[in-house]
Amino acid sequence: MNIFQEVESEVRSYSRNWPAVFDVARGSELWDVDGRRYLDFFGGAGALNYGHNPPALKRPLLEYLERDGITHGLDMHTQAKADFLTAFRDRILKPRDMDYKVQFPGPTGTNAVESALKLARKISGKESMINFTNAFHGMTLGSLSVTGNSMKRGGAGIPLVHATPMPYDNYFDGKVPDFLWFEKVLDDTGSSLNDPAAVIVETVQGEGGINPARVEWLQGLADLCQRHGILLIVDDVQMGVGRTGPFFSFEEAGIRPDIVTISKSISGYGLPMALVLIKPEHDVWSPGEHNGTFRGNNPAFVTATAALHEYWSDDTLERNTIRKGEKVQEAFTRIAKDTTSVELTARGRGLARGIEFAQPELAAKVCATAFERGLLMETSGPSSEVMKILAPLTTTDDELDEGLEIIAESVKTVINGA
Ligand code: PMP
Repeated sequence: MNIFQEVESEVRSYSRNWPAVFDVARGSELWDVDGRRYLDFFGGAGALNYGHNPPALKRPLLEYLERDGITHGLDMHTQAKADFLTAFRDRILKPRDMDYKVQFPGPTGTNAVESALKLARKISGKESMINFTNAFHGMTLGSLSVTGNSMKRGGAGIPLVHATPMPYDNYFDGKVPDFLWFEKVLDDTGSSLNDPAAVIVETVQGEGGINPARVEWLQGLADLCQRHGILLIVDDVQMGVGRTGPFFSFEEAGIRPDIVTISKSISGYGLPMALVLIKPEHDVWSPGEHNGTFRGNNPAFVTATAALHEYWSDDTLERNTIRKGEKVQEAFTRIAKDTTSVELTARGRGLARGIEFAQPELAAKVCATAFERGLLMETSGPSSEVMKILAPLTTTDDELDEGLEIIAESVKTVINGA
């Protein structure tokens, strides 16, 4: 029995799939305590879009710590926060002609989602939410109430209420016109639908199985919200900060959500940090109405600022992400085509990519086989039927080729043994 089995709770999960003790990480590579190298296509579940310990972020962080720059600051004004807000305004909001106020909730994705839901209720004076099938928004009660997965919901131990699920894009395999049911129950005074405060949506469902919503679907949703006076919350915790190419995953659709949640890769260094972006007219919070001890993680502000300057002063990262994503899609499509005995489907957007296995248990087997060959990736989807990669956007072309080769071999090994 090792120290983890002896002391750490049974709730631990990723460590069960990857029974190594990791020690050092750089870019898209990890090494365990025995010096074995792994290629990381898991990317901290989307928290490491610029890879592990990116030098352009590490240097200012070390300098900041060395000069005793303030680390913990609640929501006090600090120079590090001023620098981040300035960079975020100048590098992200202004060039996109976006006008949002920035709220710092607690530092996790679910903190941002809880805050967004509370704010939407306060703005609208209504309590009910619309969420989507196979959505994932976090593990606290409000976020779980708008999350699809029954296992995760079951962990709540109490009824999860105040949310009504609607079919996500392609839920009926294209057989039903978009928003048929949603529009019908909204318009029908006999439908029993509670008047919704807001809709919360992911543009690509990451945990739900790499399900990309079409641009037309997102535009249709924004239009529906507008016509019915429903607030639109885009949860960009996993797909934001460049994962699909542009900084915000909804840019391609040209929509302007009322509220946006951001976390994971915003610090760029794996340091906890989250944002809620609020259209100025909706910033109706009273001072201190939503609070939290860790809203001022200043080292995270320092690395986040450095990341905005390093990666978002031009469109190089965005273009490369789209190019690399297409390369992965081609490789996955080839793997699917070459596999005749089991149906595989390749899908995704940008560098959020996956392969769905018609026999769900095969996806986990492929991930386990890939791990034996030195590659980290995880499964997602309601039956863990999707093999999912969120490789750092900075993964080199050689590393990408290496990982894709391991994936192709692992699929072959598993299918031939199935
Ligand atoms: N929203 C989305 C879309 C997510 O993917 C996640 C995490 N996978 C969360 C919210 C929750 O983030 P956290 O785990 O930091 O609470």
